[in-house]
Amino acid sequence: MNVLVVGGGGREHALVWKLRQSPRMEKIWCAPGNGGIAPDAECVEIDAGNVAGLVAFAEKNLPDLTVVGPELPLVNGIADAFHARHWAIVGPSKQAAQLEGSKIFAKQFLRRQGIPTARMLETFDSAEQAASALRSAAWPVVLKADGLCGGKGVLVAQNLEEACDFLERAMVKNEFGAGAKRILLEEALEGEELSFILVTDGKGYAPLAPTRDHKRVFDGNRGPNTGGMGAYSTDELLPQPLRKTLVSTIVEPTLRGLASDGIPYQGFLYIGVMLTKTGPKVLEFNCRLGDPETQAIVARMDFDLAEVLADVAAGSLEPAKLRWKKGASACLVLASGGYPGKSVVGKQIDGLTAAKQITGVTVLHAGTKRRGEAMVTSGGRVLSVTAAAPSLEGTLQSVYQAAAKIRFEGMHYRRDVGRQIDSLKAAGN
Ligand code: AMP
Repeated sequence: MNVLVVGGGGREHALVWKLRQSPRMEKIWCAPGNGGIAPDAECVEIDAGNVAGLVAFAEKNLPDLTVVGPELPLVNGIADAFHARHWAIVGPSKQAAQLEGSKIFAKQFLRRQGIPTARMLETFDSAEQAASALRSAAWPVVLKADGLCGGKGVLVAQNLEEACDFLERAMVKNEFGAGAKRILLEEALEGEELSFILVTDGKGYAPLAPTRDHKRVFDGNRGPNTGGMGAYSTDELLPQPLRKTLVSTIVEPTLRGLASDGIPYQGFLYIGVMLTKTGPKVLEFNCRLGDPETQAIVARMDFDLAEVLADVAAGSLEPAKLRWKKGASACLVLASGGYPGKSVVGKQIDGLTAAKQITGVTVLHAGTKRRGEAMVTSGGRVLSVTAAAPSLEGTLQSVYQAAAKIRFEGMHYRRDVGRQIDSLKAAGN
């Protein structure tokens, strides 16, 4: 099998790493990939969002299967372009990807289907009108850019000043790009957050191993939000009663609702949920796997990913094939100085070989590139140190032992990944 993986971060390295283990794997391309993916796949210089470029590449190289990591190519219609040519691809259509590409589309869908979610207050396409409506608001209020903003498009505002500052940056200074032309306001929910990630072929679905991520940059959930500083997985994260509630009130109504709306959905679906006092409510949909959750999920896979994804693309998913290693996994993100603000890059990375020698540890690359014989940093989130072991404690020990071997100037990481399991259990029970 020859496979094209679209994207170039830690999530895509995790996919490549697992696909590579399949006995049926011959060649993997990764577009655009990164310096650390290069030993595992042939990196192709095409941006992930460049659908025409990816179509031209596939036309020439004929991959048996294409797996899409990030949201941008999906929202740009890569699945439609590939389906029109009868090429196998894992990922939803442009219309289905609107669940992530437009928060207003997602909200209207949830409302139509009667699926629990935060109440939408109003939508605006002018900062002035939004600000004037907010003068009489009861705080906190959540402001969300309608379109894709690379993770910057949401603010839980505590007061008018914060809200106006966000509106100014989003809609006047256009700091978040075209995705922030429209803004929606919604009710703020309180509770513990949880994500439920599944894969579906449009008919059946299989949940992936439950994970939890750490979004804030500093220990104890302090500091600004990031793309994710780490994630971990254990079955305890999703006790059976909570799983049942999520499946019956959110997961299955969502899949049924998409089908009844005539929006077939194939690929990964990430459902962000808040466990509120009045039950679980949807915060957001993502039309793809999360990063760094994927690294933790892949570490627990005890099945042939290439086979299962080929089944998904062919519409013949067999959920029983997805078997998970018992125990736990974790992924610790090593970030550059300055991240999540402006990151200092171009720093030499040492200790990778020593880190990889620790049993059960894989070092996945996100922001790295080769400079001669050396590996140097090239982005904010640099490496995902990932491990699986029979216990969460053992997993964390391996991950932190490996991280201690790695060095680059300015490197920082959280020391408390995997440490908040109790609060979530309490919220879910
Ligand atoms: P989203 O991209 O919609 O998930 O928003 C990013 C983050 O903002 C979520 O992970 C939550 O932490 C927070 N958030 C989003 N919507 C709400 C809400 N209605 N109430 C409270 N927090 C929210």
